[in-house]
Amino acid sequence: MAAEHSNYADFYRRSIDERDAFWAEQARLIDWHQSPKTICDYGKPPFARWFPDGTTNLCHNAVDRHLAARAQQSALVAISTETNTECAYTYAELHQEVQRMAAVLQALGVKQGDRVLIYMPMIAEAAFAMLACARIGAIHSVVFGGFASSSLASRIEDAEPVVIVSADAGSRGGKVVPYKPLLDEAIDLSAHKPAAVLMVDRGMAPAAMRAGRDHDWAALRAQHLDAQVPCAWVQAAHPSYTLYTSGTTGKPKGVQRDTGGYTVALAASMRHIFQANAGDTYFCTSDIGWVVGHSYIIYGPLIAGMTTILYEGLPIRPDAGIWWSIVEKYKVTHMFSAPTAVRVLKKQDPEYLKKYDIGSLKALWLAGEPLDEPTATWISGALQVPIIDNYWQTETGWPILTLCNGVQQQASRFGSPGKAVYGYNVKLIDEATGEELTAPNQKGVVAIEGPLPPGCLQTVWRNDERFVNTYWKSIPGRLIYSTFDWGIRDEDGYYFILGRTDDVINVAGHRLGTREIEECIAGHPNIAEVAVVGVADQLKGQVAMAFAVPRDASGLTDAAARLKLEGEVMKQVDGQLGAVARPARVLFVTQLPKTRSGKLLRRALQAVAERRDTGDLTTMEDPTALQQIKDLLG
Ligand code: AMP
Repeated sequence: MAAEHSNYADFYRRSIDERDAFWAEQARLIDWHQSPKTICDYGKPPFARWFPDGTTNLCHNAVDRHLAARAQQSALVAISTETNTECAYTYAELHQEVQRMAAVLQALGVKQGDRVLIYMPMIAEAAFAMLACARIGAIHSVVFGGFASSSLASRIEDAEPVVIVSADAGSRGGKVVPYKPLLDEAIDLSAHKPAAVLMVDRGMAPAAMRAGRDHDWAALRAQHLDAQVPCAWVQAAHPSYTLYTSGTTGKPKGVQRDTGGYTVALAASMRHIFQANAGDTYFCTSDIGWVVGHSYIIYGPLIAGMTTILYEGLPIRPDAGIWWSIVEKYKVTHMFSAPTAVRVLKKQDPEYLKKYDIGSLKALWLAGEPLDEPTATWISGALQVPIIDNYWQTETGWPILTLCNGVQQQASRFGSPGKAVYGYNVKLIDEATGEELTAPNQKGVVAIEGPLPPGCLQTVWRNDERFVNTYWKSIPGRLIYSTFDWGIRDEDGYYFILGRTDDVINVAGHRLGTREIEECIAGHPNIAEVAVVGVADQLKGQVAMAFAVPRDASGLTDAAARLKLEGEVMKQVDGQLGAVARPARVLFVTQLPKTRSGKLLRRALQAVAERRDTGDLTTMEDPTALQQIKDLLG
């Protein structure tokens, strides 16, 4: 297919102007039980139904489909530098393990359409669980293992899982993080109770089992060693999973993905974006708790018949050469990571990069946060392979902006993730008027004209209204999808992302809602009011900084009391949301900067914290509020 379209501009234009013909061709990249006759049903905008009369199965396309040609090829290699273990599974073995997991889930009562929540570290069983759900048509909802009990509880409540799959513990930097106490607490907090909990025992932390509810994976697996569980052929629109993401309210949104459109979108991306060949090896350093992990640790590489590496550990442990040693050992061809990880490596001794033969590597893709020029230049010089930035969101499931080098090789421009990806009708919109900005180099909101291409969110789980109101109604007078990112486009069609239009922040490539953190901190008995903003950080891109007004300020005059309260607040965030959301600093003030109408001046707070000019403050109620913060920051 790619060969027929050597010109990317034509390829892109066709994807928009001859949408159905274009996607009918892409649909042939996957196996269907019943091939779709209708390509896109957009009769009820903004809800797009892709391939509505087709039936397929995601697990079949990721696993079973390859058994004929590559049963003995490695499909999944689980490497942990936390436990010093490496475990490889061929496609035949993966097929068997997934069937065992599927049989166990069925024995625990899971049926097609039921939800299974997966709260797990980066171990092979997490991949088995995801694929097993896809196999039987259950909807998985993976919750990042770094989230703590109240984040987990709100997701359990929303997803209402029949079963939760978990493990005794994860590990980070050699420190064991027991999962079971957090999970038990979350289930206690949640109004919804799962019928069963399936526990993988890694032998890392004692896990108290609740009789009647909790089950041991090893014991149940032993009862289903020869399980044969056929793939359930589901309608293309059948949800494959939900994945929660932060927004501007405290309540996370369950991004709901379909089956057929997602499988096609990933298969096409593996070809046109990643130039992947079956038998290649893909090493994505993300986590299964994030969208990148869903699309490019598990499903995308497996759909393409590649070997995928699942990695538990840090990039610098046991030393900063670990990733390159993996590249050498497994002849990794494709690597996918985030700019923060590269910035971490950049601080280490460059000799580590020279120790290993990384000649197999074809390119490194980076996503999740802006890729700054010094980081891109450094890693490009060190690896001597193309560095390909790509911009997307949990909602879209695959890149919106990048360079589709599988269609036509195009030069990277530092600072730009690239051009609009085929299928995405990307527009820049004037926020105030809703008008499209067609001239080059104008700043606008990055928006996408419907229908969104296959693979993007169908809706917000059980909340169509929230889907429409949040994403499609933010621009006056238009029904258009907003990414909530600012951007500009140059004369050659390269986009540059200039930050969020809303209160979402991006810490080390992880998206966090400031409201969620504020709600958590406000729950501390001595906090009257709090504002959390994202502040530029050299390593993590942004960090969260909290400004809090204590109820009882009397004891806060000395540094020791402030430090104590700051520690308590951080502990509260760690315990409820997880360390990933912990603010870098909590500063105590007597008032927050607000307008006369009582609206919090977040931008001014952020500007002060970043030591920038605060701009026009005429609407501000009491200008001394900012002075106090400036004094505190020194
Ligand atoms: P998430 O849904 O967690 O993947 O976060 C998506 C958000 O991360 C986007 O809306 C952007 O704000 C940011 N983002 C992701 N990739 C990039 C990139 N390549 N360049 C700049 N920002 C990015």
